[in-house]
Amino acid sequence: NHILKIENLHVSVGDKPILRGVNLTIKHGETHALMGPNGSGKSTLGLAIMGHPGYTVTEGSITLDGEDVLAMAPDERARTGIFMAFQRPMAIPGVKMADFLRHATTNVRNPDRKEGEELIPMREFRKELKEKMAHLRMDVEFARRYVNDGFSGGEMKRAEILQLAMLQPKFAVLDETDSGLDADAVRLASESIADIGREKMGLLIITHHDKLLVHNPPEFTHVMLGGRLVETGGKELAVELHEHGYDRIRKAYPEAE
Ligand code: ADP
Ligand code: MG
Ligand code: MG
Repeated sequence: NHILKIENLHVSVGDKPILRGVNLTIKHGETHALMGPNGSGKSTLGLAIMGHPGYTVTEGSITLDGEDVLAMAPDERARTGIFMAFQRPMAIPGVKMADFLRHATTNVRNPDRKEGEELIPMREFRKELKEKMAHLRMDVEFARRYVNDGFSGGEMKRAEILQLAMLQPKFAVLDETDSGLDADAVRLASESIADIGREKMGLLIITHHDKLLVHNPPEFTHVMLGGRLVETGGKELAVELHEHGYDRIRKAYPEAE
């Protein structure tokens, strides 16, 4: 049973401290919601977990099953089974979703593969992709489009969910896309996460949409303020924050910001 452990994590961007001692343990099969006002450091936590070079860990640790994640390069983290869907996903014009997914899936399934070595056989890959897309009620045409190129917010979410379904990571961080999702897109996204089986991974969902959480009720909700997790509760905390905002939190932890 996998376990992702973040202890006393401090992260700076340049010389500006952003995270100031984050402690968070996610077990395989658990869903955690991460909430908090804009600029509190939610995306920074995800980027630090993935090893984004602009985010420097100055103190603390991240381990996966006891292995030092901070010692791994970003692509090693991905191969080890950590996945992040970015708030601002990168477009890769000229690279089709299907080809991108075939490479990524190969790398995750054969972590020792060297660049240039065999990919998953095309026929096998196509069959699996088709099955997963059908299961997620996605049009196969979608896989022929260039990665995130001109995607709507809803399509970025779909692309992210297809990656999740194919890569089957041990842990996934889903950061809310910037582009607004309409109600249908949110419902579709949340149903799809449930379809993939959130119990098959550890999930950290950064979201302001309570609908995403209604279909995927988190076992834990964490509130970030000023680079620290100031409160942890169950799914009722996510509901409260969605309905009433962060006034209570700000009053309760005036020193945090
Ligand atoms: P959230 O996702 O909770 O809205 P972020 O993690 O994006 O918050 O940002 C937290 C703080 O770190 C903000 O003050 C933001 O301006 C700063 N920050 C994050 N990334 C960068 C960056 N690449 N360059 C400069 N400042 C950054
Ligand atoms: Mg933000
Ligand atoms: Mg963010």
